[in-house]
Amino acid sequence: MRIENAKIIAALRELDVELRSSSSLAELTSLAIGGTTDLLRVKKHESIPGLLDLLDSHGVPHRFLGGGSNLLVGDGELPWVVLQLTSPKPDVLLEGNFAHVDAAADLGRTVTYCAKHDLGGMEGLIGVPGTVGGALRMNAGAYGMQIGSYVREVKLYRAATRQIEILRGHQISFEYRHTSFAPDDMMLAVKLELPSKPYKEILQGIRICNEKRRSSQPLGQKSAGCIFKNPPGASAGRMIDELGLKGLSRGDARVSDRHANFFVNAGKASAKDMLGLIADVRERVHSTFKVELEHEVVIWA
Ligand SMILES: Cc1cc2nc3c(=O)[nH]c(=O)nc-3n(C[C@H](O)[C@H](O)[C@H](O)COP(=O)(O)OP(=O)(O)OC[C@H]3O[C@@H](n4cnc5c(N)ncnc54)[C@H](O)[C@@H]3O)c2cc1C
Repeated sequence: MRIENAKIIAALRELDVELRSSSSLAELTSLAIGGTTDLLRVKKHESIPGLLDLLDSHGVPHRFLGGGSNLLVGDGELPWVVLQLTSPKPDVLLEGNFAHVDAAADLGRTVTYCAKHDLGGMEGLIGVPGTVGGALRMNAGAYGMQIGSYVREVKLYRAATRQIEILRGHQISFEYRHTSFAPDDMMLAVKLELPSKPYKEILQGIRICNEKRRSSQPLGQKSAGCIFKNPPGASAGRMIDELGLKGLSRGDARVSDRHANFFVNAGKASAKDMLGLIADVRERVHSTFKVELEHEVVIWA
C-alpha cells in the first residue's frame, strides 16, 4: 500500500514518523518472504496515538512489525502499511532487580546486558531473535521459561481507549505463545523483574541453551522458528518427523531436515509455496493423528 496523500505525508513529518516507501517485507523478516508496502518508522512513543488516529481517519490499515522473526508475509503489493518502533539509546535501564526495556530493543542483547549486570532468569531466550515487543506479544519462551513470568508492567498503546497506558503484570495473562493483549494493542515498553544471579552462572545457562539450539535447529537457514504450536502433551515436530516429512518441499519452501517443526526458505520461496507446505503438513498430521495443529508463526497473507 502506498501513502501518496500529501496531507498524510505532511502530518507524518509533524509526528516525526519516517516514511519508507515501498519497503520489501522479505528484507525485514527472517523467512525472507513477503511483498512490498510502506513502512512507517516511529521514533517517539508519544506519536503513536496521533499516528493511529491519522491512519484510521484516512482509512489506512496497519500492522505492527517487531524484528520480523515470527512472520510469514504474503506476496506482492500488500494491502496495509507497517509500523515499526525505532530503538532509543539506551533501550535498557536497570534499577535494582528491575529492567525497564523499550519494546524496540533487541531481545538477545537485552538478555546479555541484564546478565552482565547479574540479572538472570531469561537464559532460555538467548537465540530467540526479534525484539522485546515481539517477545511480549508472543510470550516467547524456551527450555521451560517464558518472558511473561518476569513482566511487572507493560506500557502500551491500547486500541480500546486509543491512549498510552500502563498495565500491571496481574492485569495480563501470559499463556503458551498467547497473551491477553488485544490484537490492536501496541507494546511500547516493559518493566521486568529479574532474579539476581552471578554473571558466570547465567553465562553457563546461556551456553547450555545455545548448545541445545545449535544441535537441534537449522540456525544458518531462513526460518521463522517453529511453524506450529505444540498441542497439549505432544510435540508438533515429533508428529511431523514420525510421518517422515522432513525434507518435504513446495518450491523452495522446505521442512527442515534438522527440526521437523522448522520450515525453511531454501532459496526463493514465495508465501504461496510456504502456505501450501504448511497446509499440506497440517492436513497429513490431522489425517494420521486426528490433531489440528495451530500456527505459531503469525501469518500476514
Ligand atoms: C531461529 C529462530 C528460533 C526461534 N526460537 C524461538 C523460541 O525458542 N521460542 C519462541 O517463543 N520463539 C522463537 N522464535 C520465534 C520468534 O523469534 C519469536 O516469536 C519472537 O519473540 C518474535 O519477535 P519479533 O520482534 O521478531 O516479532 P515479529 O515477528 O515482528 O512479530 C510477531 C508478532 O508480534 C507482533 N508484534 C511485534 N512487535 C510488536 C509490538 N511492539 N507491539 C505489538 N505487537 C507486536 C506482530 O504484529 C506479530 O503479530 C524463533 C524464531 C527463529 C527465526
